[in-house]
Amino acid sequence: MIRENLEKVEAAMREACARSGRNFEDVTLISVSKTKPKEMIEEAYACGKRQFGENKAQEMKEKCIALPEDIVWHFIGHLQTNKVKYIVGRAALIHSVDSLHLAEAIEAESAKKNTISKILVEVNVAQEETKFGVGTENACQLVREIAKFPHVKVEGLMTIAPFVENPEENRPIFCKLRELSVDIAAKNIDNVSMSVLSMGMTNDFEIAIEEGATHIRVGTGIFGEREYAVL
Ligand SMILES: *Cc1c(COP(=O)(O)O)cnc(C)c1O
Repeated sequence: MIRENLEKVEAAMREACARSGRNFEDVTLISVSKTKPKEMIEEAYACGKRQFGENKAQEMKEKCIALPEDIVWHFIGHLQTNKVKYIVGRAALIHSVDSLHLAEAIEAESAKKNTISKILVEVNVAQEETKFGVGTENACQLVREIAKFPHVKVEGLMTIAPFVENPEENRPIFCKLRELSVDIAAKNIDNVSMSVLSMGMTNDFEIAIEEGATHIRVGTGIFGEREYAVL
């Protein structure tokens, strides 16, 4: 099932790239394996996948230790400062930095481990109250402040669009994130790159690709529906 799903997702990625005059190679598919067992990750790995996304710090750490070393882990969930220690040195990219306080904790842990952590600033473009992320108007200032940390490197921006029936509704959100990234790039801030735009999930990744996503995060479309324990 995973192989067929991956083929479908990649076919849709190719079509979205063709529609928007982009190269398929310029869009990275992150297989979002949160809540899914290691066996399913191994199945995707056997299909050649190497980029995986997790949203819980301890879960990512455990999977990282148990699974092949050449997996590239993306941390995409809300991160509490006391969990930063599980992620730094393991995640190739932390997509969800939305406060100076969190960036400070990542800086401290990265200095301690003598490593540089690559991060994205999460922007709440849709201004949904239930979502994390810095407001569009405060994103540039946060990037400037994080840029001062020697062990943290801003690589771009990330957003989570709302769940909508018609993915077209999210096009303005993706478009806004790209515009914001162009604006910030134009400021030529030292130690800052705006080369990554992480946007688009199962429901809307084709629109996100048309609007310039460099990284899409697809869970359900690859691994099927998630089941959450009822507490
Ligand atoms: C779960 C999750 C995804 C994947 O969502 P699907 O709709 O299953 O593709 C993408 N990004 C983030 C931040 C997530 O938490």
